[in-house]
Amino acid sequence: MKVSAETKLFLSASEKVGFDKEHRKKIKFNISKYDDAVSEGIKLYRNIELAKDRAGHIKYKVVNELDQYLIEFEDKFLKNGGKIIWARDANEAVKEIIKLINNKNAKTVVKSKSMTTEEIELNEALEKNGVDVVETDLGEFIVQQAGQKPYHIVTPAMHLSKEDVASLYHEKFQTEENLSPEELTSYTRDLLRNKFINADIGISGANFLLTDIGGIAVTENEGNAFLSMSFPKIHIAIAGIEKIIPGIKDLDLFWPLLATHGTGQHLTVYNSIITGPKKNGEKDGPEEMYLVLIDNGRTQLLSKERQRQALTCIRCGACLNACPVYKNIGGHTYNTTYSGPIGAVITPHLKDFKTYKHLSFASSLCGKCTTVCPVKIPLHELLLVNRNDAVKNGYVPFSEKQSMKWATRGLKSRKLTNIISGKTKNKFAGMFASKSWGNRRTFPKIADKSFNELWKEKKD
Ligand code: SF4
Repeated sequence: MKVSAETKLFLSASEKVGFDKEHRKKIKFNISKYDDAVSEGIKLYRNIELAKDRAGHIKYKVVNELDQYLIEFEDKFLKNGGKIIWARDANEAVKEIIKLINNKNAKTVVKSKSMTTEEIELNEALEKNGVDVVETDLGEFIVQQAGQKPYHIVTPAMHLSKEDVASLYHEKFQTEENLSPEELTSYTRDLLRNKFINADIGISGANFLLTDIGGIAVTENEGNAFLSMSFPKIHIAIAGIEKIIPGIKDLDLFWPLLATHGTGQHLTVYNSIITGPKKNGEKDGPEEMYLVLIDNGRTQLLSKERQRQALTCIRCGACLNACPVYKNIGGHTYNTTYSGPIGAVITPHLKDFKTYKHLSFASSLCGKCTTVCPVKIPLHELLLVNRNDAVKNGYVPFSEKQSMKWATRGLKSRKLTNIISGKTKNKFAGMFASKSWGNRRTFPKIADKSFNELWKEKKD
């Protein structure tokens, strides 16, 4: 099997970014601030392991009974006056959303942060259809202005320093050079306020779908999601089908876990529960509410007995911040919506396994991702399961298959291993192994003498 273009792209980008000192400096600085905040934040718990066990158990139960939960949720949500659009894939979701926007003759959209909308590339599709769409989360707004994709699932502009942002604003909006973070925020707030007032439609994601009350829960720090959901006359929420939890009572477990592991806060600043459009007599809220529930490869992941546990992810981003690979190569290198360890586990299933399986090999398997995960997904083990699937399906290069075949044959036989001289072994290692070892490391030299000879010498 040939190495895919996506793999080559990943390897060349890793090589470039991994040695970009400026990039490393910014990421190191931002992740160290995150680490400090999280170690303070989790002091909230008397028994953090118990909370993680409970959360993981609840989510895993729901994932295993997803069909029943979704039916119940739909029933309640419809009774609340909302409408549901089921989408099998990104195309279907985008088509339905555009149809809805056109039917309403809407021209302007305010959007709050949502990785699911990134996954279906909604902004690009809306812009192509002449819709003015603006991201209202500060980090998302910054990367949108920079013409980039989010760098991280929680902190989209983590790779930019305050100086980078000031110079971006200067270029884009002709603001004064070197504005402070406060001035930049204030400028953005003024600009967005107008957008909120004039928007036809508000689009949001959903952190959790609450089965018992048929509502969505959204958590954020800036109040922009709250405004996106309540100011415009129409609210469209978009969520993956795995976002479901049993009910409103579970939020006392999930909201603090998400906040402590996502940003180190005990609780994020604004937490909203939306149960459909505004009711008779209510002053605030949209007149219509739609929820687009997306599969887009999730049922494919669900069909995998081991890897389905990754559907319990609550998108806190902790595994990205903990990962030594992510910290070196950064979020954009993955060239996928979900990066880092969780991205490496789920992307091959959400997209095309053959094309994206290389991501599961981009790990040191140190297990730090598993340790920090608030729902205890055994990420490093699932990476190994993906690797195993890749090998079983024959998705590895011919040279690798051959070298593994010969290495297995040789290593299984002491006689064969001893017969081959050290010189020949080194020659084979040079041919097959040293390339993947990388040109910055020297492949260890195999001893000239056999193991038996060395053993004998040591004993004598
Ligand atoms: S896998 Fe775990 S640590 Fe990573 S984003 Fe999901 S919940 Fe957070």
